[in-house]
Amino acid sequence: MSENNHAGHGRSGRGYYIALILCAVAVGITSYVYSRYTAEEEILLQKENVIPVGTMAPREDIPVIATQAPEQKNESRETEQTEPATVPKQKRKICSPVSGQEIFGYSMEALSYNQTTRDWRVHNGVDLAAEEGAPVCASCDGTVYTTYQDDSMGYTVVIRHDGGYTTRYSSLTEDLAVSAGDPVQAGQTIGYAGTTALVETAMGSHVHFSVTCQDKPMDPMEFLSLSE
Ligand SMILES: [Zn+2]
Repeated sequence: MSENNHAGHGRSGRGYYIALILCAVAVGITSYVYSRYTAEEEILLQKENVIPVGTMAPREDIPVIATQAPEQKNESRETEQTEPATVPKQKRKICSPVSGQEIFGYSMEALSYNQTTRDWRVHNGVDLAAEEGAPVCASCDGTVYTTYQDDSMGYTVVIRHDGGYTTRYSSLTEDLAVSAGDPVQAGQTIGYAGTTALVETAMGSHVHFSVTCQDKPMDPMEFLSLSE
């Protein structure tokens, strides 16, 4: 009887140690897999946001996405989201980046349906029709702040202007005509229209043109209307 008890105690003792070792192995594997996963995820994120080192482009082009149709405008939500940019009514030489018509409008206060991604999102610029390879020009005198490429908006040039304005030209071809630091004049070719904005491929070849004033989005058509 006592032997049996002793033997039983020995078995459960071994079982306890085996269980302890298994737990330790499981914890080890879990932490290895987790650290590996987060490292891979970080690399993926870095790939998706390819911005040259040393330049911090304001990323207001990242769209807000909704899977539902937009509801009626809510006054309090509107004031929370984006205050309209203060626009100094200062006339200057401004031209449209391309001669093509607007094919998709600016819409920051209401969600609009994106035919490429098939969801509802804000649109921080205007889409201007332009044949593949058509020259795209700087809309105003300024300095190239940065150029970059990302999966959503494709090859992009960002130009800063006097008065706190920044213009951004996306969906360009890889063959950009300027680089960071270049001074540019209104009408100067900075790149060529393409189809590199993957969230807007349904639009065909075009330029996604967006403007900020003091880092707040503004309707590019309002900016173009400031032309002297
Ligand atoms: Zn667009």
